[in-house]
Amino acid sequence: MKAALVDGDGVMLGHCSAVTGEATDADGLVETLTSLRRRLAGSTRVADRVGVGIAGVLDRSGTVRGAPNLPLLKGQCLQTLLGHGLGAQVVLHNDADCAALAESWGGAAEGRADFLLLTIGTGVGSGLVLGGHLRRGSSGYGCEFGHVVIVHGGRRCGCGNRGCLEAYVSETAARRQTQESSAALLGAVNDHVAACGGGFAEGLFDLGARGNSEAEQVAGSMVDVLGSAIASAVNVLDLTTIVLGGGIAPAVFARIERLRSAVAASLFARPVSDIELLAASRGAWAGAIGAARGALLAVCP
Ligand SMILES: [Zn+2]
Repeated sequence: MKAALVDGDGVMLGHCSAVTGEATDADGLVETLTSLRRRLAGSTRVADRVGVGIAGVLDRSGTVRGAPNLPLLKGQCLQTLLGHGLGAQVVLHNDADCAALAESWGGAAEGRADFLLLTIGTGVGSGLVLGGHLRRGSSGYGCEFGHVVIVHGGRRCGCGNRGCLEAYVSETAARRQTQESSAALLGAVNDHVAACGGGFAEGLFDLGARGNSEAEQVAGSMVDVLGSAIASAVNVLDLTTIVLGGGIAPAVFARIERLRSAVAASLFARPVSDIELLAASRGAWAGAIGAARGALLAVCP
């Protein structure tokens, strides 16, 4: 859990963090967040609003409908729990939405009224801004581009469905597709990661760039699938700005021409020259900064 004190211009005045695993129930989690807030407030100014970003599906009442990394929160009205625990106006958002808010606030998408952010890491998170506003649909569950089905009856996704983008383009997908390619490639990537550090997908992409043709085939197919998904988003929403973040994004940008070609191949009405593909720039604290932005933007009673 990361906590940051952020001013009205998006500048971090202080930050601290705690290990989420220390909390064993919802009350413990709230207590940890409360202590983080105390640590921040002790050193500088006191925040009168608290924005919270969580990796999970939230409805508009602030109830967690699903949180694979924090199952203890499922069904809990986090809005109420945190409001009582923190004694402040609490504004909740999905973590990818927070990242999108951060990118539009001094980040890569500053000044863009319409854009889609995709964070490619363990899974694929997404945040959609249209007309300058974050969009989640009628119930708050929408804009889950990681779960757009790109292969009917395809690979099993962590969400339970089959064929989702996330099942083809993510850290988890990179490992699975490498394993399926061959045991030799899996061993080579693991050795490369052990020697050079970084994540598995990063290692796979790097090995491909260094001339391992089997690694390049797996990495390249991930880029192609991502390109098709981006083109589909553009075709549906008439977007011209896509922001890519997350651990795999730098490796994807190292293949930007291949990505642009894959986007071009599936575009419907626009030439690919209309589309800007930007690297997220708010870094490791984007979620906390975006959560603060969400709290500042919210109309509170
Ligand atoms: Zn899915």
